[in-house]
Amino acid sequence: MSDPTCKACQGSWPSVDHFIADLGLSKVYLHDDQFFPGWTVVVFTRHATELFHLAPTERIQLMEEVNLVAKTLSQVFKAKKINYELLGNQLPHIHWHVIPRLASDPAPLEPVWRVQHEPLLCSGLDLQSRVQRLQQGIQHAR
Ligand SMILES: [Zn+2]
Repeated sequence: MSDPTCKACQGSWPSVDHFIADLGLSKVYLHDDQFFPGWTVVVFTRHATELFHLAPTERIQLMEEVNLVAKTLSQVFKAKKINYELLGNQLPHIHWHVIPRLASDPAPLEPVWRVQHEPLLCSGLDLQSRVQRLQQGIQHAR
């Protein structure tokens, strides 16, 4: 289960100070880059790189967990639209980038990867406050 060569298994990705919640099959973290405010990553806790690697009951539960995060982001950030990107190319954990797109979005018709920008790193009180808002939001949305 705990692979010594895997950043996610070793707890070094995503960073622990970005941790928001453990939902059961997944853990939720604020993404390092907050250029799109509220950008969150939902990481499946064990190794699996495709949805078809999961048992049907796991797949259903995982989608419920992603859905809870999306609903929370929508409420907390008053998003106009939520984007979902299911990746797992760089490490063997399915993970969703769940990204609220706000009314102030600089490129609302483009996927975030195509919007050139300097990463907006969040730290200190700003990071704590954003994590806490989402923790409370998840409690409220459950
Ligand atoms: Zn791993």
